[in-house]
Amino acid sequence: MSKQPVFRFAPSPNGQLHLGHALSALLNHDMAKANGGRFLLRIEDIDIARCTPEFEAGIVDDLGWLGLDWEKPVRRQSEHLDLYRQALGTLIDRDLVYPSFLTRGAIKVMVGEFEAKGRSWPRDPDGAPLYPGEERKLSPSARQRMLAGGKPHAWRLDMARALATLDAPLTWQETGTGPNGETGAIAADPGAWGDVVLSRSDAPSSYHLAVTLDDALQGVTHVVRGRDLFHATSVHRLLQGLLDLPEPVYHHHRLILGADGRKLSKSNRDTGIAAFREAGKTPDDVRAMFL
Ligand code: GLU
Repeated sequence: MSKQPVFRFAPSPNGQLHLGHALSALLNHDMAKANGGRFLLRIEDIDIARCTPEFEAGIVDDLGWLGLDWEKPVRRQSEHLDLYRQALGTLIDRDLVYPSFLTRGAIKVMVGEFEAKGRSWPRDPDGAPLYPGEERKLSPSARQRMLAGGKPHAWRLDMARALATLDAPLTWQETGTGPNGETGAIAADPGAWGDVVLSRSDAPSSYHLAVTLDDALQGVTHVVRGRDLFHATSVHRLLQGLLDLPEPVYHHHRLILGADGRKLSKSNRDTGIAAFREAGKTPDDVRAMFL
């Protein structure tokens, strides 16, 4: 008998859910039901500065109102920080990550100065400037000195080294579509992200590390999420390869755009699920909008 499918909806409680989240949650829930699978809710709250219990309560309220039910207890990432630290420790021991003391602001200034000379700096798939990579070359003793000095730092993946550990090119199975209609067997391209952050200076993990570990630990077989995370899957596939984790099937769905044609944001109250509830709409009205 094949394995029971496991789906999850994994919001971050740093704002109110909007209609894009509603689509994601409904799709996960409905696909789980249609395939005799399990449906999990995971709260991705490693960013303690921005996530609040009030937003989490709002998420639970909104999903309940939509008519969804999920398994309990709900996994909260802030309760599993040791797990992420442990995985990072494995990568430190294997010399696949290095401490990075440059702040995002400092990188921005460096890139700005470079581009002011009329040259363009390479960008990651989200359009952010790639990390310059200078600190990769720090000597072990200089690294130790800076760490011992207690300077805040992130840990970055040494992408070239990580890629060199692979026996074969990475792919994934896409049952949805990417931004350019990509579907089926997709060739992963983690190198496009440069030396990604796996542990932040202000949190013990990054999104990439926590999401990959949790999907594996919770036995998630199908990752159904917005198309904005299509390219991030390349990093997740690489981490699965490095940490010997199973590979789920991926399904990226379309994004719901606002009247201005842009991706919805959690700060825009008009497109929040809560605003719909208050306006007297029903869960069926929400479903009718996109399912
Ligand atoms: N926590 C992420 C977000 O709210 C989603 C993670 C995922 O589905 O992989 O955007």
